[in-house]
Amino acid sequence: MKQPHILISGAGLAGSLMAIYFAKRGWRVDIFESRSDMRKMEMVAGRSINLALSHRGIMALKEVGVTDEILKEAVKMPGRMLHDKAGNLKFAPYGKDETEYINSISRGELNKMLMSAAERYEDVKIHFNQTVLEVDFDQKKLTLQHTESGAIQTAIGDLIIGADGANSAIRQSMEKQIPNYESNVDWLEHGYKELTIPAAEGGGFRIERDALHIWPRGNYMLIALPNFDGSFTCTLFFPNEGPNSFATIDSVEKVRSFFQQEFADAVPHLTNLEQEFLNNPVGKLGTLKCFPWKVGDSTVLIGDAAHAVVPFYGQGMNASFEDCRILNDCIEKYGTDWEKVLAEYEALRKINGDAIGDLAVENFYEMRDHVANPIFRRKRELEYILERKYPNYHSKYSLVTFHPEVPYSVAREKGNRQDDYLMYLCEDIESFDDLDYDRIYRDLMAM
Ligand code: FAD
Repeated sequence: MKQPHILISGAGLAGSLMAIYFAKRGWRVDIFESRSDMRKMEMVAGRSINLALSHRGIMALKEVGVTDEILKEAVKMPGRMLHDKAGNLKFAPYGKDETEYINSISRGELNKMLMSAAERYEDVKIHFNQTVLEVDFDQKKLTLQHTESGAIQTAIGDLIIGADGANSAIRQSMEKQIPNYESNVDWLEHGYKELTIPAAEGGGFRIERDALHIWPRGNYMLIALPNFDGSFTCTLFFPNEGPNSFATIDSVEKVRSFFQQEFADAVPHLTNLEQEFLNNPVGKLGTLKCFPWKVGDSTVLIGDAAHAVVPFYGQGMNASFEDCRILNDCIEKYGTDWEKVLAEYEALRKINGDAIGDLAVENFYEMRDHVANPIFRRKRELEYILERKYPNYHSKYSLVTFHPEVPYSVAREKGNRQDDYLMYLCEDIESFDDLDYDRIYRDLMAM
């Protein structure tokens, strides 16, 4: 029997992983990627973001057998390290015990590893410098343009996967061709900028290695994720406009005095602060919701192309990898009956793409404000006690991050109900010793 031929737009994280799933079935895969091969290039400054990889993403990587090589390049983060203005530190674990942690990994390195893992299969070919311009959904045909020569060509396959990120050309074709197509991006008033804490002399870590560092400051925050080589990639989430904003902090003096005032304990480690702040690009942060995600039996969106989210739950890539796993499950169930495969995938994923988009925005406010708020901190302590005491209780963070068996939409609804209840309990708590834990547990389990 002739094996299906799959066309993928985008060799990013989701496109490369999806290609491996198809290749494992013995299917032929052509990926078209508008960038050059990043394995042959230097990393561009200001775009070396590292990502938190957690259980949902790992579950998909495990299925295709690449977890070990990838986790070898990751640094474990068992909790958050909170830095207050005076430089005091407080560590808050993410999980109930040492088995629950998230992993810091370089986005570029991860992408390179996934591309190489896909290319180990004879039937996978990545065509670099090929930009997808548009789709003919009836003919399952892509129109492509070479980024250097400008040459136009076409490719026809049995199924088209739109894995081309937040500005997806495949989605734009849907927007143009499908009447009443729904597509909306909600932009935050904040953007982000990458800064670096280099490794210490001799290669050590200048601040605690095993943590995601957060400097929460109300309307803005700085975070730092450890890299394998001893450095940290920091990201400043900051208003685009206003008194303290990317628009106003625009000189060497202002950068230094602002950081000295707000993030004093980080300043000695940000050795190239002014230059990086003034030269690195400002990234935009938005939540994309669109519908439909598929066209008949022809084309489907995965990853950021379908649901770009703001980065505050550390789930954009994890959700994208989960898309790949669920799409593969649907293929397992319906084979090449694409109409059924795509319909079921969309029904299962759209609701969860929306949910993680909402969760991520909600967590932005939580990380920014509440992490420094005593009621929130007490709630987190109470959650931690409950998680250790009752193995069947999982906080919202734990449901989202460590429990892939719970869909994001369920995690959001249940988690928000739990949060409301626990915040209420923590409002005027005197001591954790006086609490009736069994009753609290029963209440939580009934939610
Ligand atoms: P991308 O990684 O964007 O890949 C899309 C690919 O398509 C790219 O290679 C692009 O060049 C290519 N392409 C685009 N247009 C075309 C075209 N027309 N033709 C051909 N190719 C095309 N997620 C987490 O899980 N944890 C985190 O901690 C986390 N932190 C983040 C921090 C920041 C600051 C940001 C911005 C994002 C973060 N994310 C995180 C989200 C994560 O980076 C994305 O969800 C993930 O990269 C999505 O993968 P993707 O393959 O769908 O898209």
